[in-house]
Amino acid sequence: MERILESWLLHANRRPKILIADDQPTTIRVLHELFSAQCDVFMATSGAQALKVCQAELPDLILLDVVMDDIDGHEVCRQLKADPATSTIPIIFITAQNQEADEVVALGLGAVDFITKPINSVIVRARVGTQLTVKLQGDLLRASALLDGLTGVGNRRKFDDDLLTNWRQCLREKNPISLVLLDIDYFKRYNDHYGHQRGDACLKRVAKALSETLRRPYDSVARYGGEEFACILPRTGLEGALGMAETMLANIRELEIEHKGSDIDRVITASLGVATLTPTTGSGPEALLAAADIQLYQAKRSGRGRVCPKL
Ligand SMILES: [Mg+2]
Repeated sequence: MERILESWLLHANRRPKILIADDQPTTIRVLHELFSAQCDVFMATSGAQALKVCQAELPDLILLDVVMDDIDGHEVCRQLKADPATSTIPIIFITAQNQEADEVVALGLGAVDFITKPINSVIVRARVGTQLTVKLQGDLLRASALLDGLTGVGNRRKFDDDLLTNWRQCLREKNPISLVLLDIDYFKRYNDHYGHQRGDACLKRVAKALSETLRRPYDSVARYGGEEFACILPRTGLEGALGMAETMLANIRELEIEHKGSDIDRVITASLGVATLTPTTGSGPEALLAAADIQLYQAKRSGRGRVCPKL
């Protein structure tokens, strides 16, 4: 377990979280003692409580009792697997019976392993350790699949996910959501003149400047296309979004990346289109994307190196 904790701290920057759900306090105590030194341990004494803790804490592993009074372990497992937010959490069933039929049911429900009472601490630690390693690898893989390899900001897929998630969130909250689309000016000429290596370095610096401009944890930036970036600003009205876009543009100029091929400046600049909508039922984020795209086009057509609409 020590080595596993080390790799969690190194790659995830935190301790793994384990949920122990069992209606027998003695079992919880034994398991808690086994893992509390290396993991953040959460406890539940009923199926309903287990589901609640899962939603709130998103544990990295669940040790789940099969027989519980209210909602049994199998049903808890079914519900967790049906919810995309919790479906990747590995579940190890705990049961008093050592029967093959139970094991088949458990694995059929998507459980990764099966342990029997009385608890054999060596076996449980080994099995939990294995599953925590697999969970960490899966998390890292999922995260890297959403990142743009060159710039390290979100990729197009991450943008699509984030836009939909935030759109729905703002719909529930009745809040506006803003989108900034940004295109680096004359970037093809930059690549032609300075070469692709310098072009890549330029993209990286612009991406970093954009990330640093966004301060709130729910704002996000993604690489939308070749030299296009998109920033999602939830809970932000048009005025706030235009202010942010002006700051983004100023910060990109301040990088002072020389651009001899630009018609409008001696350094790298960008054109930015901003749009804001308050989501309504039955509408999707496509309208927001289309509106921001029109503004970006407007910014380019009216001379580049600017934000549209004007504040
Ligand atoms: Mg029980």
